[in-house]
Amino acid sequence: MHTLKPGPVLLLYLLTIFSFQTQAQLQNNPGANHGNKFEQLGTLLSDPNVYRTASGAPGHQYWQQRADYVIDVEVDDENQRVIGSETITYTNNSPDPLHYLWLNLDENEHKADAESKKFDESSLSEQMTTRQLRQFIGGNRDLGIHILKVADGSGKPLPYTINYTMMRVELPAALKPGAKFVLQVDWQYNISDRMEENGRGGYEYFAEDGNYLYTITQWYPRMAVYSDFQGWQNKQFTGRGEFAQVFGDFKVNITVPADHIVGATGECRNYANVLTPTQLTRWKQAQQADEPVEVVTLEEARQAMQGRATAKKTWIYEAKNVRDFAFVTSRRLVWDAMRVKQGIEGYTPMAMSYYGPEAYPLYRRYSTKAVAHTLRVYSKHTIPYPYPVAISVEAANGMEYPMICFNYGRADTDGTYSEATKYGMISVIIHEVGHNFFPMIVNSDERQWTWMDEGMNTFCQYLAEQEWDKDYPSRRGPAHKIVDYMKLPKDQLEPIMTNSENIVQFGPNAYAKPATALNILRETVMGRELFDYAFKEYARRWAFKHPTPADFFRTMEDASAVDLDWFWRGWFFGTDPVDISLDDVQYFQPLGNLETLQGDAKEAYEQDINTVARQRNIEAGIPFAVEADTSLQDFYNKWDRFAIDPEQQAAFRQYYESLTPEEKELYDGKYHFYQLKFSNKGGLVMPIILEWTYADGSTEIERIPAYIWRKNENEVTKVFAKTKEVTSVVVDPLRETADIDESNNAWPRRHTPTRFELFKQGNTPVRGASSGPNPMQRSGGG
Ligand SMILES: [Zn+2]
Repeated sequence: MHTLKPGPVLLLYLLTIFSFQTQAQLQNNPGANHGNKFEQLGTLLSDPNVYRTASGAPGHQYWQQRADYVIDVEVDDENQRVIGSETITYTNNSPDPLHYLWLNLDENEHKADAESKKFDESSLSEQMTTRQLRQFIGGNRDLGIHILKVADGSGKPLPYTINYTMMRVELPAALKPGAKFVLQVDWQYNISDRMEENGRGGYEYFAEDGNYLYTITQWYPRMAVYSDFQGWQNKQFTGRGEFAQVFGDFKVNITVPADHIVGATGECRNYANVLTPTQLTRWKQAQQADEPVEVVTLEEARQAMQGRATAKKTWIYEAKNVRDFAFVTSRRLVWDAMRVKQGIEGYTPMAMSYYGPEAYPLYRRYSTKAVAHTLRVYSKHTIPYPYPVAISVEAANGMEYPMICFNYGRADTDGTYSEATKYGMISVIIHEVGHNFFPMIVNSDERQWTWMDEGMNTFCQYLAEQEWDKDYPSRRGPAHKIVDYMKLPKDQLEPIMTNSENIVQFGPNAYAKPATALNILRETVMGRELFDYAFKEYARRWAFKHPTPADFFRTMEDASAVDLDWFWRGWFFGTDPVDISLDDVQYFQPLGNLETLQGDAKEAYEQDINTVARQRNIEAGIPFAVEADTSLQDFYNKWDRFAIDPEQQAAFRQYYESLTPEEKELYDGKYHFYQLKFSNKGGLVMPIILEWTYADGSTEIERIPAYIWRKNENEVTKVFAKTKEVTSVVVDPLRETADIDESNNAWPRRHTPTRFELFKQGNTPVRGASSGPNPMQRSGGG
């Protein structure tokens, strides 16, 4: 762009130089300027094949196994014991003959000699709770599952081997492709104290009334997944990495004390036998109600809590096409229900909640409505909720199963509660109900990839929270909230694409970072329209199937025509943070007809000429004088960088007259040119978002795609033409990219307030009603 002669090429003069880059900073980005941040993922993904296409969809020979269950189970309230008997019909849809089957025995995580108790680190501190100490000693109850029978359909015993939480059952003959095998298993186990043993299911004892709340989960020997992408998923359950589950139909007969109320996956087939006539009438009312109706009232629950029924009742449940089955039973439960109109015929599920008196003030008011809200928002972004019920149970935790989940949110003893408890409860309900979509319907392998369910679910949770309440205090989702994690030293970080067991910072890595990445993808990289279509397409393609990460990555590109390989590489396969620095701003204006130069411009030209003169001396081979040299001074004083001889002047005039009015504008000072230099200090390539502030006080946001970094990942320079003079420029003004150092984002440099100051000043940038961050903090979801 520079030339010393006016003429057909524009002459620009540099008005002012702003430079922040020091030599030290330059050395942080040594010569290697071209890595592989934009290379296609290639071998990082599994090869497409007949089961999974290169577009990310199920292939023409896609298959998955199926397991149908008929189960009789009794919860023994006297001894806190589960007694079960199941018949599994296993269908081998794979092209492979199978010589054995693997089943999960998850309850063995509680065994005294459980492997995880050995390989998890532990340490003592000066202050320990009795519960913490008991973990070193172990309880004296017999925990873990007792297998009483393993047999084929005719009752003939089958050999089996238990390896910790996995059981291998030998088949009498290879199970051929397309064939079914019927397996019978009887078992028992002592239910663990969930509040002491840290389990996902178990019991909670209420000393004040002597009653138990049972949340019965991972309670039956469950078929492991056999898949085209990893064969048997029989990685041990340690309590951390969750579950890989097979779809099938369930019929479950649940026997409990007659004064218990049961809530479970699926639909109850015999309410007429287990409810009072009044309760049955209320249930029928609830099916037509758009506000929660108490099927079992608080008064009835209080009444039941005072008795101890000796009689038993059996609740019969059926669930179709689910990957698991869980239930709650207790005499302490209030139950309310209402229908959820999704606007699609055949899709009007019941939203329901079960809770004890201590949760009544919160749950009666919010829980069932939060369930309904979750179904509506998630259905909009994925597929219409296909199951007949969705249940929220208050159990002082956060854990999900098909159609039923366990959440927290208890009022104080006087019946009041804080805003933090309220929002915490709503968030955990949205989150756990949301798991119906990821992974209960879009059935990813949780044992391997936590982010595929937790990350996608936390992302949708954020959308649902923002639709619940204006300025909802979402804990995860907005980009700036992941900054503290992204800032950590590299040895405390691992990629999102890390096995569930090996993640150090579980919440930030598997929940917050992928949720944030998806939010950034939606708001900043792809835009809502392209993102929403592709995300929905992923849910549609993989509903009731087993997707892998590659299927997700491919689908998002396949359905949007946006090359996102750089994004997956950076956010999912890498640990680099975002830190884009605005290092240098240079301001140029066209030098048109010299005669029009006036004012500031002239002054700047006078200052600049000294530099130019020196440069000209060097080029001319004229040495700098050690002593005064009058001839040189004479040369110097007479020399005029912009001196124009008459010939040039005539040429210019001729040229100028030949220009169109638009071209003349360039010479007439309409445009101000700014050359900005950026460096990528964090490593993670991202779009460059700029906010220009002009001399007249107006502002403008401009977005440069991440592709600007593709030829130089460390430094880029770009020129911007503006019709108004710029007074300041800020990178990432809306805090969309999770930039970990905002002190190098502004020209002129600004003092960056610390977070405390941000809170105090109340000037946290707000990016619009749909995602306004809020400084309010609260305790987290599950
Ligand atoms: Zn979760």
